[in-house]
Amino acid sequence: MFVTIVGKPERFDERDCVFSRHDLKAGTEEYSDFYQRHPEWKEADDDIRARLKLGLYASDADKALLYAPDWLARNLGRPEMVDGSPASRTVDISPERAVRKIKALAKNLGADLVGISRLNPAYIYSHRGRMNNPEEEWGSPIVLKHQFAISLGFRQNIEMIRTAPGIPEMSETLRVYAFSAHVAVILAAYMRMLGYRARAHHFRNYQVLPVPLAVEAGLGELGRCGFLLTREYGNCLRLATVTTDLPLICDTPVDIGVHDFCTMCKLCAEACPSGSIPTGGKIRSRGADKWQIDELKCYRYWSKVGTDCGICIASCPWSQPDNWMHITAARLATQSHFARVILLWLHPLIYGRYKPREKPEWFDERARGK
Ligand code: SF4
Ligand code: SF4
Repeated sequence: MFVTIVGKPERFDERDCVFSRHDLKAGTEEYSDFYQRHPEWKEADDDIRARLKLGLYASDADKALLYAPDWLARNLGRPEMVDGSPASRTVDISPERAVRKIKALAKNLGADLVGISRLNPAYIYSHRGRMNNPEEEWGSPIVLKHQFAISLGFRQNIEMIRTAPGIPEMSETLRVYAFSAHVAVILAAYMRMLGYRARAHHFRNYQVLPVPLAVEAGLGELGRCGFLLTREYGNCLRLATVTTDLPLICDTPVDIGVHDFCTMCKLCAEACPSGSIPTGGKIRSRGADKWQIDELKCYRYWSKVGTDCGICIASCPWSQPDNWMHITAARLATQSHFARVILLWLHPLIYGRYKPREKPEWFDERARGK
């Protein structure tokens, strides 16, 4: 059971996402417009904006470890990097051959997982909300007419993530976002050079929701923590997407037992220091039944620790080091309820409760805060 669709999914307005709200500046037209429409969020958002400074507790040398990959991702998010005109001459290529080439190129460039789905219009943002590029107007309607979405998954180094909520975790997240941007931008450029429209979507410039598209492309399922959960890397990965009108053949969604596992597990919810992850059942949200995390509580915790936290990734049983024991366990967990019960019972005996690991020696200090 990957995601239960219970109605017509509604398009999400990017202006409503917590990252976009964080970018708003008091006194601007955008700020007034937004809080006239959403007075219920103003007080909490003002409070978070005043306090949230990612990297706050890092040394100057370690702050640069955060800013350098983010500088690259921002540059790769410029409109002329993510999109452009296709070549005037179209290369004739069959969908079967195109899929083989695209998947092989994506993997060769460094993607760990690749899958293809139709571009479900419900997963295209309705309006632009992030303020990464002055060229793109806040609040402008998003029109994207591509038919296919290529979902790309990039694993993170679990040893760095296990320092969560420390600076090394955040440095790893930004490194992987920059890397995913680089791969998505090249892949989109390749398809435009074949004469087809193609656009890269990554952390510094999305027009689509990468998680539900990755679910439809068969990369994994949506977990309790709100992230994609994959058999190979658990939720310890980041996503990018390329949309295109190059004719392709789609993959199919998978059932790897995530609904059953997450229903019993709850380890991320227990480890989450802000209580943002639900311990109960799924709720109905924008046309789908899913576990809904409380983004404001989560973001408030980020402002306390000065990092993007990541404990829900580090504590997930699916996101453990890549050794034979974990690979076998993940394979069994996808196959039967009985195996999932046994593995959940074994997990605390082998790994214990989540405790942040020591930072690698090349980081200067860890984030403080509670
Ligand atoms: S990032 Fe941290 S605070 Fe946010 S949901 Fe995950 S564990 Fe909770
Ligand atoms: S920690 Fe458990 S409940 Fe949370 S996402 Fe991972 S498997 Fe699901």
